[in-house]
This record gives sequence, structure tokens and C-alpha cells, in this order.
Amino acid sequence: MKPKTRIGVEIDTAICAIDAGHGGMLMRKFYTTAGKQFKDFHECEINRLYAFELSNQLYLNDVIGFELIENCPVDVSLKDRIKTLNLLASKRNNCVSNSIHCNAAGNGKDWHPAMGSVIFYNAFDKESKKLAQCISARIDTDEIPIVHRGIKPTKSFGMVRKPNMPSALTELGFMTNKADHNALKDSQVRQKYCALIAAGTGDYFKQRV
Ligand SMILES: [Zn+2]
Repeated sequence: MKPKTRIGVEIDTAICAIDAGHGGMLMRKFYTTAGKQFKDFHECEINRLYAFELSNQLYLNDVIGFELIENCPVDVSLKDRIKTLNLLASKRNNCVSNSIHCNAAGNGKDWHPAMGSVIFYNAFDKESKKLAQCISARIDTDEIPIVHRGIKPTKSFGMVRKPNMPSALTELGFMTNKADHNALKDSQVRQKYCALIAAGTGDYFKQRV
């Protein structure tokens, strides 16, 4: 069955697959791929909140369908998440993926000055670069209190390199920077940030038509 928008219209044009970046956490027991931890900040938890909010914003966008690659709090390996993406890509030719992460720097205990967001894209795929550019153009704004530092090619990140679709990996900000850390935990920032990422994803599909 084709996915539907909130008004029930079938979409067969665009799907954004959302990857929450890491495995989940249950009763504070870490799974094998839980991601980084700094003070009270657990990357897998924040990534998941962003992944769900991004799915909400894509839903509200009414143009793009979405597919959450993993369900909280299940731990899904990187290999299996890539497999899920490629299964999606084998069925549909108009999908993209965005893997959500938070960055970290320093000794793991003290605040660190490194700050800001960056979007990685598949260095070997020009569509991935366009996707990153579209999202980057939207999040490069004073509307959210996290500085955007642009896009970067990667030849190594599995979640960007291996899916058979345009793929981006968004590092939302630094959990080890006090200002970014507090902004990333703020639900209003999250809502606005995800609305901008959803809008940028929409821009990509519009320019691709
Ligand atoms: Zn991460």
C-alpha cells in the first residue's frame, strides 16, 4: 500500500527515511550502539527525539512521506539499518535518507568550545550533495540558536555511503558545547529545527522534479 499524507492523498513521489543514528537505551542500560554520552546527555535519546519530531514535521509538510528506520528503544545494527534503507530503495526510486546525530569534542567531562551543525553527504554522489545543500540552506538561519557550519563530503560514513539513495548525515550540534547542549534539549528549538530540515528536504524534491 502506498503511504498517505495526513489528508489521505497517496504519495508515490517522495519518501524521506529517517535514521536516529544509534541504537536505543532501555532502563538506562546502554545497547551496543547507543552513541556518545556527555553529562546528562545521551546521544541516542536526543537523536530519537529529533527523528520523531522530524517525522512529525514531514507529515505536516504534506508533500513528503517518511519512514522511521528504527523504533525506539530497539537496538538496530548499522548493517541492518543500511539493509532497511536499501530495501526501501529497491521498491521506490524517489527516496532520500537523513541520519541524525549529535557531535562531541574534548575529554568527555568538561565543556568544549567546538560548536555548530554540519551536514555530511556521500562524496561520490551529486544528488546527495544537492540534498545536503538544500537542508543546509534552510538551517543556516538565526531562527535556531545553533550556528550552521555548512556541508562536508565523506567517503567513509556507512550511513551516507552505502544506501542506494541520496543520503545525508546531519550533526545537529555539539553536545559538549554548553550553548549547543542546552539548545538541543529545548523542545521548541527541536520543533523549529526539524521544521527547517523537513522544509530543506522538500526543497530537494521540488528542485529534482
Ligand atoms: Zn552519532
